[in-house]
Amino acid sequence: MRYVETIIVGGGPGGSSCAWELRRQGRECLVLDRKEMPRLKLCAGWVTRKVLKDLAITPSEYPHGLIKLKRFKLIFGRGRRFAATVKSSQYSIRRVEFDAWLLKRSGVETVTHTVRQVTPDDDGYIIDDAYRCRFLVGAGGTNCPVKKALFEPDQGDLIVTQEVEFEAPIRNSSCILWFPFAEPWGYAWYVPKANAINIGFGGRRARLEKWDRARLWDDLLALLRKEECLTESPPQPKGYSYYMGRRRKQAKKGTAYLIGDAAGLATVDLAEGIGPAVESGILAARDILGKGSYSLRAISRFTLPFLKRAVLRIATLAP
Ligand SMILES: Cc1cc2nc3c(=O)[nH]c(=O)nc-3n(C[C@H](O)[C@H](O)[C@H](O)COP(=O)(O)OP(=O)(O)OC[C@H]3O[C@@H](n4cnc5c(N)ncnc54)[C@H](O)[C@@H]3O)c2cc1C
Repeated sequence: MRYVETIIVGGGPGGSSCAWELRRQGRECLVLDRKEMPRLKLCAGWVTRKVLKDLAITPSEYPHGLIKLKRFKLIFGRGRRFAATVKSSQYSIRRVEFDAWLLKRSGVETVTHTVRQVTPDDDGYIIDDAYRCRFLVGAGGTNCPVKKALFEPDQGDLIVTQEVEFEAPIRNSSCILWFPFAEPWGYAWYVPKANAINIGFGGRRARLEKWDRARLWDDLLALLRKEECLTESPPQPKGYSYYMGRRRKQAKKGTAYLIGDAAGLATVDLAEGIGPAVESGILAARDILGKGSYSLRAISRFTLPFLKRAVLRIATLAP
């Protein structure tokens, strides 16, 4: 059995950020991920400046496609939609490139391994009778095996999404968010990338399951054409689910941590999950290093605090 001081399950932005901080301080760690990088990850790929700042990344050093989203258009309401365009200084990336690059940049060793069993022992944890560690970081997303083995089950509704990313010329360079879209709190988006477009919609499973998703997809395509975002029909979307805004009360137990989506950290307004995954990964690493204590309080629940107020007002106006 192989012993490593810290094992991180999952090499997404949460896991690689935790590894980056530990490796910077010269500490031993290992990432186990069920998929080999680069791997497909359904995600709009919109990242804030804070993400780059937290990871000390300058846009010019990023070797793949990264564009600055200078305008962010929020389209509110249902029948009579009204819009507000705000200046933006956010970025868009493709997750297939970004996640693999972050992991490589962290300098951590990564093993392709699907974690199935996690067992506490006297001085840490045993994984699949193959690995032992003192510190264990659960960064495996919504279905993280560390969460399932050591923490309370998730509560509440899942967010389900339909999404597709495809290579296409960019006709509209604004990032667009429709809110609400399918149900009182559902949303839809358009994110232009360096050489691709990402579109999709999401909402609470309990509500969306009752809707005709094919019709919703057609509704979204009509909205996209109205905004001159599409020149041709995009490929069929794929589904994905995750917990949004369902932050856990307990994200540290003994020397085990939950970070990113495993801890339900995506923001409640824009479902921004990359930033909270990065922040929580760095915070967990600092706790392991003895340089801070792991608390989710420091991580904001909202990307845009003003949106919460606007949404509450619009929800009462919607027909
Ligand atoms: C449709 C959609 C659009 C989104 N758009 C945005 C956006 O534009 N901006 C934004 O900030 N956020 C967005 N999010 C949220 C964002 O994708 C997530 O919050 C973010 O990926 C969380 O990072 P993570 O590192 O916690 O988990 P993940 O990125 O999910 O990484 C988890 C890793 O764990 C691995 N893993 C899982 N199970 C196991 C196992 N048993 N053994 C070993 N490895 C395992 C997986 O292979 C994966 O590599 C979006 C989400 C969805 C669904």
